[in-house]
Amino acid sequence: LAKQEGRNTYRFHTQALSSAASERLDLETRLRRALAENEFVLHYQMLIDARNEAAIGVEALVRWQPPGEAMVAPGKFIPIAEETGLIVPLGEWVLRSACQQGKAWIDAGLPLMIMAVNLSVRQFQSVDVVELVRRALADSGFPAERLELELTEGMLMDDANQTIVTLNALKQLGVRLSIDDFGTGYSSLAYLKRFPIDKLKIDQSFVRGLYDDLNDREITATIIAMSRILKLDVLAEGVETEQQLTFLRENGCDYYQGYWFHRPESAAGVEQRLAEKFSR
Ligand code: C2E
Ligand code: MG
Ligand code: MG
Ligand code: MG
Repeated sequence: LAKQEGRNTYRFHTQALSSAASERLDLETRLRRALAENEFVLHYQMLIDARNEAAIGVEALVRWQPPGEAMVAPGKFIPIAEETGLIVPLGEWVLRSACQQGKAWIDAGLPLMIMAVNLSVRQFQSVDVVELVRRALADSGFPAERLELELTEGMLMDDANQTIVTLNALKQLGVRLSIDDFGTGYSSLAYLKRFPIDKLKIDQSFVRGLYDDLNDREITATIIAMSRILKLDVLAEGVETEQQLTFLRENGCDYYQGYWFHRPESAAGVEQRLAEKFSR
C-alpha cells in the first residue's frame, strides 16, 4: 500500500511539475512574440537630488503591455527572460529606447542629467556588452556621461579579472556605473575600492525599516558613511515616508528615489514633470 501511495504521490508531483513547466513555456512563447510585436514600454521614475529635492534624472523601468490586458511588472517576466536568454534582445531594446528618449528630452531643452538603465547578469556577461553600449550611444547621440548603468553585486563577483576589464572598458566610453540593490549581495570593501563605481543605490529593504528597525538604521547609516569614505555617490531607493526621508537627510544621503517623491510614470507623464520643473 505504501508503495502504491508513493507511486501516486510521484505521479501527482510530475503532473504538477509539467504544468508549471508548460506554463513557463507558454510565457516564454508569449514574451518572444511580445518582443516582435513591440509590446514592451518604458516607464521612468525620477531621481531626486537631496540638496534641493529637484529631479536630476530618471531610471528607465520596463513594463509589458499585452494588448487588452493589464500592464505586467518586470518581476513577472525579467527572471524568465534571463533564463531563456530573451533578456539579451529585450535589454538591447531597453538600452536603445532609453537613450533615444533621453536624447529627445535633452533636444527639447528638458533638464535631464541622468538616464539610469538596469543591466541584467546575462547582458553584463555577454562578450559584446561594451560594444552594445557604445552603439546605443552613437546611434542615439545621447551623451555618454549622462548614461548610468545599474549593475548588481552578483554580477561583480563572478570573475573579478574579467569584471574589471569590462567595467574599465565601460568607463572608457564615459558612462557612469552604479550598484543597484546595494547591501543585499556580497561585495567586499576591497572590491568596491577596486571597481570604477560611481554610485551605490541602497536597497529598499533597508529603507523600509528606517523608522523602527535599529539594524536597518545602522546598515543605512553605515552605507552612507562608507560611500563618503570611498568618494561614491549614494542614493536611497524606495523612500515612501517623511520619517525615512528625515533619517536619510540627517545622515547625509545624496539622492533619493521613491513613491514619496514620484512613482514610475509613462514617458508623457515624466516629460510634463520635467518641463514644469524647468519653467519654475
Ligand atoms: P530596481 O532596479 O531596484 O527598480 C526599483 C523598483 O522599485 C521598481 O520596481 C520601482 O517601481 C520600485 N519602487 C520605486 N520606488 C518605490 C517605493 O517607494 N516603494 C516601493 N515599494 N517600490 C518602489 P519595478 O519597476 O517593478 O522593477 C523591479 C525590478 O525589475 C527592478 O528593480 C529591476 O531589477 C528590474 N527591472 C526593471 N526594468 C528593467 C530592465 O529594463 N532591465 C532589467 N535587466 N531589469 C529591469
Ligand atoms: Mg534599478
Ligand atoms: Mg534597486
Ligand atoms: Mg530592487
